[in-house]
Amino acid sequence: MTETEIPGTVPERFRPPTRFAVPGRIAVSERTASRWRTATLTEIRRETPRAATFRFAVPDWSPHVPGQHLMVRLTAPDGYVAQRHYSIASAPDDPGHFELTLDRVADGEVSGWFHTVARPGDRVEVRGPLSGFFAWPGDRPALLLGAGSGVVPLMSMVRHHRARGLSVPLRLLVSARSPEELIYAREYGAETTPVFTRSAPPGVPAGRMTADHLAPLFDRRPPGGWEAYVCGSNSFAEHASRLLVAAGQPVDRIRIERFG
Ligand SMILES: Cc1cc2nc3c(=O)[nH]c(=O)nc-3n(C[C@H](O)[C@H](O)[C@H](O)COP(=O)(O)OP(=O)(O)OC[C@H]3O[C@@H](n4cnc5c(N)ncnc54)[C@H](O)[C@@H]3O)c2cc1C
Repeated sequence: MTETEIPGTVPERFRPPTRFAVPGRIAVSERTASRWRTATLTEIRRETPRAATFRFAVPDWSPHVPGQHLMVRLTAPDGYVAQRHYSIASAPDDPGHFELTLDRVADGEVSGWFHTVARPGDRVEVRGPLSGFFAWPGDRPALLLGAGSGVVPLMSMVRHHRARGLSVPLRLLVSARSPEELIYAREYGAETTPVFTRSAPPGVPAGRMTADHLAPLFDRRPPGGWEAYVCGSNSFAEHASRLLVAAGQPVDRIRIERFG
């Protein structure tokens, strides 16, 4: 199983040349990955009691590939700097704009600022889009498994699939603690199966994702099989990838993004 690559953390000499990259890896331009740009917050939308979407405008924004993320940098008036990775939630066909969805982490420095201080008109710095590995250009059947805010890069894939009217199969299994905590709940369609771990609607059992959730997707596997994308906490990534392997998914076709 291969981890996502976070550009900037691996010394240049250790990186494989792009031309020998694993199949499906998207080439990420070093220039795009290393250049800081100013993004202006234009809108804030509440998704759940703990999560909100932040829409930004950036002149000449290079469209991302669904699944990619950004580095966001905040600088305090005294020069203190904090930077964090955030997945892009929006579809690529959104000229000059991108959207992030942030969970509010208790005592979180950066997520706390976004949720309590940020207002439309505020500016932050961004670098990216990053990651050539956890990216889906819409060219192969995709099986997406996410938990909590791990659904964010997967939603970019779902939105891209819809916006382009793609016919390639795409399915999303998304885990949340309760219906109230299900991010993007209003947007899901027939492609999505929600799984509720703590409290579920009447008649739906609450509990973790199981082999039973995956079985129908492997009974009717598309020709050529699935490319699996898993995103969430470390424990969810372990759990979901074990379920996938047990269901028959080849390990080299499981792409994992861990939010830590
Ligand atoms: C590639 C990548 C993409 C990401 N995309 C998203 C995204 O789309 N949306 C999103 O909300 N987050 C995302 N994250 C997580 C994000 O980068 C931050 O780690 C998170 O927002 C917390 O930062 P903070 O400054 O608010 O908290 P910090 O000040 O860094 O941490 C405060 C406390 O919270 C704990 N903590 C830190 N991160 C988490 C976490 N993720 N969950 C629970 N506890 C935590 C710390 O251990 C600490 O005790 C992504 C991470 C990666 C690596």
